[in-house]
Amino acid sequence: MVSVQVRLPSPLRSFVGGAAVTDIDGDTVGEVLSRLVDRHRELERHLFGGTGQLRNFVSIYLNDEDIRHLQRESTPVRSGDVVSIVPAIAGGAPAGATPPAGRPAPSELPLADSVETSPPLTGDQLRRYSRHLLLPEVGVRGQRRLRASKVLLVGAGGLGSPAALYLAAAGVGEIGLVDFDRVEASNLQRQVIYGTHDIGRPKLDSARDRLKDLNPDVVVRMHEVHLSSENAMEILRPYDVIVDGTDNFPTRYLVNDAAVLLGKPNVYGSIYRFEGQASVFDARKGPCYRCLYPEPPPPGLVPSCAEGGVLGVLPGIVGTIQATETVKLLLGVGEPLVGRLLLFDALSLRFRELRLRKNPDCVLCGTHPTQTGLIDYPAFCGVPSPATAPEAGAVPEIAPEGLAARLAQEEPPLLVDVRSPSEWEIVHLPGATLIPLAELPDRVTELTHAREVVVYCHKGNRSGRATRLLLDLGFTHVASLRGGIEAYAEKVDPTLPRY
Ligand SMILES: [Zn+2]
Repeated sequence: MVSVQVRLPSPLRSFVGGAAVTDIDGDTVGEVLSRLVDRHRELERHLFGGTGQLRNFVSIYLNDEDIRHLQRESTPVRSGDVVSIVPAIAGGAPAGATPPAGRPAPSELPLADSVETSPPLTGDQLRRYSRHLLLPEVGVRGQRRLRASKVLLVGAGGLGSPAALYLAAAGVGEIGLVDFDRVEASNLQRQVIYGTHDIGRPKLDSARDRLKDLNPDVVVRMHEVHLSSENAMEILRPYDVIVDGTDNFPTRYLVNDAAVLLGKPNVYGSIYRFEGQASVFDARKGPCYRCLYPEPPPPGLVPSCAEGGVLGVLPGIVGTIQATETVKLLLGVGEPLVGRLLLFDALSLRFRELRLRKNPDCVLCGTHPTQTGLIDYPAFCGVPSPATAPEAGAVPEIAPEGLAARLAQEEPPLLVDVRSPSEWEIVHLPGATLIPLAELPDRVTELTHAREVVVYCHKGNRSGRATRLLLDLGFTHVASLRGGIEAYAEKVDPTLPRY
C-alpha cells in the first residue's frame, strides 16, 4: 500500500474540514477513493451514484490523465502520485477524441475571403493597433483578420466583462452579447465592464456603450434573450468563435451542443470561489464539453457563485484567458487550449493542466453520435420547469409577514439559518441558529426537540432543499422562508442589511 495525494476542488472541501489536499493510502485509484469516502462520509453522495458507480459529472485524474483512459478505478497508484477530483462547475460535457499529437495546427477559421475583400486599415486604425502591428504574428494582415471576425459572448457577467473589453480593444470586428439581466450593485465587484451609474440599466445597453467608447469601430450585436433550444442555432450561426461565460449548467450544455453541431470552437471558462477552469472545445479537433462531463450534477449538489461566493479578480483572470484563446483562434497562431483543461487556483496561485481526450462514446461528437439536435436542457439538468415546479420540489413555505407574526407569538418556531458563516456575519435574524446546509445532515439532532422549525437562507433556494431534507428525515412541522432573508428585509424589516 502506498500513500498518494488527493486534491479536492473547493466545492468539496467543506466535507473534509476545508483541506485542499489530503494524503490517502491505497494500491489503486478505487481503493484511494473508497478510503477517502470512508473517512469523509459526506463526500460519498457527491462522488458516487446509488449503484456505487463514479458519477459522470465528476472526473478523476491520476496525475494529468483521466482514469477513464487508464484502467478506471482499477488503475494502480504509485507513491507520490496525485489523484485529482475535478467536478463540473456550472456546466459540463464529455470529452472524446485523442488529443492532437505534438503541436496542433493553428485554427482554420473561414475568414480568409472576408479578409481579402476588406478595405485596408485606416490611418486611425494603424495608430490604434500599432502595438499589434509590430508583432509579426499579427501584423496588418492579422489585424484585418480580427476586424473581419465575429465573436459571440454568451453571458455578459464576470467572465464576459473582461473578455468583451479585451476583444473590443483588440479590434474584433463584431461582438455579439447574449444576456438579459440588469446591472446590480453586487455585480460591480467583478463585472468590470459596468460602472456605478449603470446600476438598474439593462446589461447589454451598458456593455454596448462601454465597448463603443473603448473602440467605436466595433459592431456590437445585442441578443437580449434567454438562450434556448429554439433560438441557439440561429443566434450562434453567424459567429466564428463562441465564448462561454455562462453561470448555469443548462446554458453551458446548450452552448456546447450548438457549437458542436455548427462546427464552431467554444472557448470555455468557469469559476467558483477561488478556482477557475478554461479550455477550448472544438469537436473537429478534440473533445467537447460533454466528453469531459457527460452529465450535469443534480440541482443543488454544486452551489452557484451567488451562494458560494467568488473572488472578484478570478473571472478577470479566466475571462482574460478566454479572450487570449479567442484572439489566437481568430489569428490562427499559437497552440490553442484544445484537448487541455487548465485549472487555476488563486489561493495557491497555481496553474495546472489536465489532458482531455475525445470520448468515442460521446453522444454528440463521438464515433456514433445519437444526439443530432438540441434537447430540453432544463429537463436534462434536472431543473424543474415553471410548469412542473410545484409538484417536483414542493415544500411548505412561510411568507415573511407570516414568519414575523409567528415570531411575535408565545411559542415561536425554531429558526434555522442554512447559509454560510460569512453570510451570517453580514446579517441574520435574531434568535436564529446557524447550521450551514452542508452540515445539516450531521447536526439534525440539534433540531429534534423543536416543535416547529422554520428554515431560511438568502433567497429561499437552499432553505427549500434543507426543508426537503428535514421532511425526508421525518420532521413534520417544518417550513422554508419564502424569498429568504432578502424578502424578509424587503417586506418586514427594512433595517436589515441586504447583500
Ligand atoms: Zn464530445
